Amino acid sequence: MDQRVTARRPRVGMWIAGEEVQAVGGETFEVVNPADGQVVADVSRGSPDDVDRAARAAHTAFEDGRWAGLSATDRGRMLLRLADLIRRHAADLATLETVQGGKTVTDARGEVEAAAGCFEYYAGAANKYFGHTIPVADRGLDFTLREPIGVVGLIVPWNFPFLIASWKVAPALAVGNTVILKPASYTPLTALRLGALALEAGVPPGVLNVVTGPGASVGAAIVTHPAVGKVALTGETTTGIQIMKMAADRMTRVSLELGGKSPNVIFADANLERAAQAAVAAVYGNAGQDCCARSRVFIQRPVYDRVAGLFTDAARRLRVGDPLDPSTEMGPVISTRQRDHILRYVTVGREEGAEVAFGGGPPSDPRLAAGAFLLPTVLTGVRNAMRVAQEEIFGPVACLIPFDDEADVIPMVNDSPYGLSGSVWTRDLGRALRMAKAIRTGVLSINTNHSVHQEAPFGGVKMSGFGRELGMHALDLYTEVKNVFISL
Ligand code: NAD
Repeated sequence: MDQRVTARRPRVGMWIAGEEVQAVGGETFEVVNPADGQVVADVSRGSPDDVDRAARAAHTAFEDGRWAGLSATDRGRMLLRLADLIRRHAADLATLETVQGGKTVTDARGEVEAAAGCFEYYAGAANKYFGHTIPVADRGLDFTLREPIGVVGLIVPWNFPFLIASWKVAPALAVGNTVILKPASYTPLTALRLGALALEAGVPPGVLNVVTGPGASVGAAIVTHPAVGKVALTGETTTGIQIMKMAADRMTRVSLELGGKSPNVIFADANLERAAQAAVAAVYGNAGQDCCARSRVFIQRPVYDRVAGLFTDAARRLRVGDPLDPSTEMGPVISTRQRDHILRYVTVGREEGAEVAFGGGPPSDPRLAAGAFLLPTVLTGVRNAMRVAQEEIFGPVACLIPFDDEADVIPMVNDSPYGLSGSVWTRDLGRALRMAKAIRTGVLSINTNHSVHQEAPFGGVKMSGFGRELGMHALDLYTEVKNVFISL
């Protein structure tokens, strides 16, 4: 079925066993453009019966060896073809990503390119991932094999729909698993395109199945299905907790990339202009809907007023508008419901004693009235113990918090249930290293916001989850180690 954005509203099915199919129950749900409230597609509303169909297809495709039985080199070749196809369809995919999720088309283009790069990386990694020979004390030869788990369920969120799907699908396929991919209901369209492109690249039917529908029924059915050996989720911490509990009964493996409330620590000796500029991008990128958003901005007291001023001015200058316009810097949030949720946090912040230095409501431009737009919001006078500094708001809201010195800021930074990402800005190398060791997060960057690299591990500690995606580490998430001993 035609999934391109056309004047006619497409009806889009799921991908099961190499075919586009409608839900067993025949139901659909609407995908709405958050920039204007218009419905852009009707998508199959799957049920546990559809998950069962997909799980059976994935199980058969795993057991008959059509994928795991290929050489790693051949699997890699197909993933490389998939990377090429993603690039060939990049403009279309980026438009779809913007229309369904509201992210700026400039960001969407970058993410589609990064997704192609991810498939390329794991295409190359497929035949460079292997076990060890181990000099055991007994007389013989001992070696390990890295074996695929089997059918894996990959459940992804709406904030980076195509990119995060690729972070999971590419390594899972590279090592021979078969997949059930479940996109978030706000943003299923690019994941469904991935299902089609994988078939075009030569990935056999049943190897990558894409099932759509509510997390509570379809997601849960994936987690509890007896054929599914592993589930990887990117989503909210509460969803991760539910999934861990559901997975326990069958010992289904889980890896979880969850929420965050990341710090950005700016010392007085930093390049303050650069730090303030970067701090704005670090919290308002993707309209603040980023698990790595550095939404707690700690500023050393002697430069607090100056950095807060630079930050607020830069936030004020951000171009909020139509996400399809390449000059737009911030699009809408995912839905008007999410906007209401974010605005409730602004009220909570006010009640707790914070001041709204900028934003705190929708923009006044009447052309944006039908969309879920929000101004970048700057809260000053925040204390780290306030709810706005402790809870993940998942919207364009920054909390500016003053601090005295290292000894003062480290406990505040670590006083968070989360531990995903963070940045430190200083010209003092010793301090940078002390902070890097003291901060309890899975990733950290010094004098930049840039903490996600295709080649390096990414993931969280504490309530931000466990397991490391990206780089060669991701392959560990999708394999079991088998030890073999040969008596000689
Ligand atoms: P969400 O938890 O609501 O949904 C994520 C996915 O889980 C969706 O596909 C959803 O349908 C599914 N789901 C929901 N309930 C389920 C259940 N009971 N069983 C199985 N599946 C279920 O998250 P979201 O709102 O789509 O995404 C935003 C969240 O994701 C934020 O908390 C954000 O921090 C987090 N996130 C984390 C990372 C990371 O790498 N750590 C990256 C991006 C987003």
